[in-house]
Amino acid sequence: MKKADLLEKAKKKLAGVHPYVAEKALKLVEMTCKENIAIIITQGLRTISEQNLLYEQGRSKPGNIVTNARGGHSYHNFGLAFDYCVCDVKGGKLIPNWTVDKRWKRVGALGQELGLEWGGNWRDFVDYPHFQYTFGLSLAQLRSGKKPPAHVKKNSKKYRVLTGTFKDPKEQQAAAERLRKATGWVVYAIEKKGLRLMTGTFSRREEAENAAERVRTEFKWTAGVQEEG
Ligand SMILES: [Zn+2]
Repeated sequence: MKKADLLEKAKKKLAGVHPYVAEKALKLVEMTCKENIAIIITQGLRTISEQNLLYEQGRSKPGNIVTNARGGHSYHNFGLAFDYCVCDVKGGKLIPNWTVDKRWKRVGALGQELGLEWGGNWRDFVDYPHFQYTFGLSLAQLRSGKKPPAHVKKNSKKYRVLTGTFKDPKEQQAAAERLRKATGWVVYAIEKKGLRLMTGTFSRREEAENAAERVRTEFKWTAGVQEEG
């Protein structure tokens, strides 16, 4: 599958999505393609009436329940979310494969590297095909008319979380595995003044700070944010 074709397909589905979020979606298509994972964007903007119709599916209408969000209660309704599907490629054709496998998880990890929030990490309603970027705005704020910035200043800085040290490589590897599993983040075991873990990059300091906080409270390891670039 050619990258250009995948990007072309994705662009069509991203109409009406916030340009900053759409750019991340396209970047994700590129990054996954480089690893021989073909993804398609299945939905971007969903109007409030479309959301209400979807909400009725599995409730007053036939089908399975696919969302817990009524109109105005999903980031899709504000152009801040998109859904994807991993595809098998057979004879040059893309065949959506909804079985969550390691490719899906890899896409999740790469999306998070781009600063996107991945539904695959949610606890109450796991939503593997979903990514969103909220600009720190709650749905209530968006419903009341608050708007994300129209243009986002390019920030070339990147942030990582660095943990405190572990006793031996075995403990360090086990810790890396635990952190990956629980968070879906990219995690590296590194040696830098002791055995530590380092995450992939976050594009905003705030996100990295939240991640470090999570490491401290959930895992009880020391953690700090490191700035790069
Ligand atoms: Zn979604």
